[in-house]
Amino acid sequence: MSVEKGPRLRGALDGIPTYKPGKPAAADGPVAYKLSSNENPYPPLPGVFESATEAAASFNRYPDMACTGLTAELAARFDVPESHIATGTGSVGVAQQLVQATAGPGDEVIYAWRSFEAYPIITQVSGATSVRVPLTSGEVHDLDAMADAVTERTRLIFVCNPNNPTGTVVRRAELERFLDRVPSDVLVVLDEAYREFIRDEDVPDGISLYRDRPNVCVLRTFSKAYGLAGLRVGFAVAHEPVAAALRKTAVPFGVSQIAQDAAVASLRAEDALMSRVSALVAERTRVYDALVGQGWPVPETQANFVWLRLGERTMDFAAACDAAGVVVRPFAGEGVRVTIGEVEGNDRFLGAAGGFFKEM
Ligand code: PMP
Repeated sequence: MSVEKGPRLRGALDGIPTYKPGKPAAADGPVAYKLSSNENPYPPLPGVFESATEAAASFNRYPDMACTGLTAELAARFDVPESHIATGTGSVGVAQQLVQATAGPGDEVIYAWRSFEAYPIITQVSGATSVRVPLTSGEVHDLDAMADAVTERTRLIFVCNPNNPTGTVVRRAELERFLDRVPSDVLVVLDEAYREFIRDEDVPDGISLYRDRPNVCVLRTFSKAYGLAGLRVGFAVAHEPVAAALRKTAVPFGVSQIAQDAAVASLRAEDALMSRVSALVAERTRVYDALVGQGWPVPETQANFVWLRLGERTMDFAAACDAAGVVVRPFAGEGVRVTIGEVEGNDRFLGAAGGFFKEM
């Protein structure tokens, strides 16, 4: 009998880091607040649950594969052609489609590091090579170094604005200078998952930059400000060849009808959305000011989270937060990302942070 061998898998998968989701809040013990996944603490926006449950009544049927209603709504909202919108299973799904559409073995994908942890995974799954450009000492994308890193093999560059996990932003002048330097055959993906939380007026809306730049594409999501993380729907705004390529690399019927209808209803609840986002931004200011008051060096954040570079103390800090009933997102040896959540959860986090700082 021959020695049994398992199926042969692609070598490109060897050593792929697994995506680490934020730890859930403990089911038992004192109330725990989950501040580990940049989720929205609010329940669905008005009318959204009703739309979703109505759609749920028909889940024996496949969804509208072209996401027609949602696409029309998004195109009108952003004043772009419908053919420039491509939807997917969360913006991470769309990001993966973008890499699949542009980069394979021998090609390079540039991104800042540390940044969104899906970038290395989806790059490697495509068989392409990651080129990581360290953040500056201020935890900001080093756009000059990223432009310098472009080679003939570069196919795609991610710019995460604001950056996950540091919350820092790149502003209009530096971003435009960068885009002017990138060759026109390299796709630049402006990942704006946290766009709605930005209050710095110098940070450009990526959609204003994409309009006259065919190699620029913008990624947005319903998971953060809109609070639909569990439904998996995001989208890209891109010029036609790129948007068409996204339709080719999409999983057929990936976005459920529940997600599509909930996204449309969320877009129509703009006033409620704005007031929730404003409340979260006010909480962000409160948390940031309190941390600075405690003595922490915190990079200025424009997202719904804060970043503490704790280095070797990272896991101890996360354990101290756990003990206080708040779950945060540690990146071992580097730092901790903490989502702005409910007021009580934020207070618990501030209590833990203050105590920890005094003992450092
Ligand atoms: N981009 C960034 C920068 C993110 O932080 C996230 C979520 N962690 C995503 C994309 C993906 O979000 P989703 O797939 O839920 O749209």
